[in-house]
Amino acid sequence: MDYLPVFLRIADAPALVAGGGRVAARKIEWLLKAGARVTVVAPQLLPELTARVERGELACLPRPFEPAQLARVRLVVAASDDREVNAAVSRAARERHIPVNVVDAPELSTFIFPAIIDRSPLVVAVSSAGAAPVLARRVRAHIEALLPARLGALARFLGARRAAVAKALGAPARRAFWERIVGGRAASELLAGNEGAAGRAFAAELAAARLAADGAATRVAAGEVYLIGAGPGDPDLLTLRALQLLQQADVILHDRLVPECILERARRDAERIFVGKESGDPAQQSRINTLLVELARAGKRVARLKGGDPFIFGRGGEEAQVLAAHGIPYRVVPGITAALGAAAAAGIPLTHRHLSHSVTLVSGHAALDDTLDWRALARTRQTVVFYMGVAQLPHIVARLRAAGAGAELPAAIVERATLATQRVLRAPLAGIAALALREQVAAPALLIVGEVTAPDARAAPGGILAAVGLEAVA
Ligand code: SAH
Repeated sequence: MDYLPVFLRIADAPALVAGGGRVAARKIEWLLKAGARVTVVAPQLLPELTARVERGELACLPRPFEPAQLARVRLVVAASDDREVNAAVSRAARERHIPVNVVDAPELSTFIFPAIIDRSPLVVAVSSAGAAPVLARRVRAHIEALLPARLGALARFLGARRAAVAKALGAPARRAFWERIVGGRAASELLAGNEGAAGRAFAAELAAARLAADGAATRVAAGEVYLIGAGPGDPDLLTLRALQLLQQADVILHDRLVPECILERARRDAERIFVGKESGDPAQQSRINTLLVELARAGKRVARLKGGDPFIFGRGGEEAQVLAAHGIPYRVVPGITAALGAAAAAGIPLTHRHLSHSVTLVSGHAALDDTLDWRALARTRQTVVFYMGVAQLPHIVARLRAAGAGAELPAAIVERATLATQRVLRAPLAGIAALALREQVAAPALLIVGEVTAPDARAAPGGILAAVGLEAVA
């Protein structure tokens, strides 16, 4: 280890920054955030720094650097664009044993600024000791994505309760208590922004821990369920929250639509349970419901991972109802639904100012019973996306045509959208079912119907490119 990682308390301490440009401004920003009293030494300042000086946030010596300016200073940054000035600042600071950082010159520095993730009071610092700053920033970005935005609020929440816990519990019980809290419901309520519920969960947990410490029976902490949308398949389309909760969950219930590369993002030691529905087994959903309830009651944090979005043809609504009925806390994490993933991956704008004013998501299964308003679905200037429709394609097309949709109405099938094996097939409505048959399209696939899917929009009157052309002229 080339540097000792420490966090320096610098509130109210005098710090000096040599240089008045952009790099200096960035360092000054950090020093001010940590509460330092900063003096900037520079013949010229950026307007934003001048503004800070005028607001009294910053002192300024508008002249060249001199060693005498270091009297009483506790921290020095040399950030001017003149190497000789920076070297002189470094020398003067080291002679006086004042920690100094010279921007882009680790050999002249006695400390360096790490890349940081700021969830104050929780702060993560990453450094490559100057060897590979870009790599350090990449690592920072990875960690950043994993840490919930409200982590700082959680740290403050816990900090505010430390004294009460220290009073209520002896040292051996305390550590186990904090472990339970950090991984439990109070923390997850707080991260979800529910401060009141978090406070209640914390109080209940503390009361239970006190009873247990007194020798009373221990209570199993309540579990919870996360109904998580995993998106259309590409793991990069997971939301940050999905990723965070996958890292937390003890058990993961997943189905066929969730690829292995997404499951790999879950906690390594999490138990995985495949609950894919073999179509035609109506009992499977009730088995899933029972499992969710039982696991949560056993104190587990359960991730119910679904393809796309949990509330779009994912039976997430039914699961949420069951959980609510059993008093089990749950959270819903939205996912990119297949229609959005497919549209983006195939370059099909689902709405377009000149071509389509609405989008309708339709379940292909519903095409079989007579619940759909086919005349509404057959109208022009809209986009209709059919999910779960592969087997029903000929039927869907026939119903649309009978309700007045034109034979030439553009249509597209997107198979395995966003995965490496994605295929996009386009044809006029009258030919799309035959094309799907010829190409042996298999689930998962979507049928998208509407002008926005036009294969050669230039040729189609009013097609996409023509419309974009119009827009460019307008
Ligand atoms: N909740 C999911 C939909 C589940 S229903 C969502 O929001 O996307 C299952 C249907 O979704 C499949 O039959 C298919 O029509 C569609 N689907 C899911 N993933 C898909 C993908 N990667 N490519 C194309 N269609 C997909």
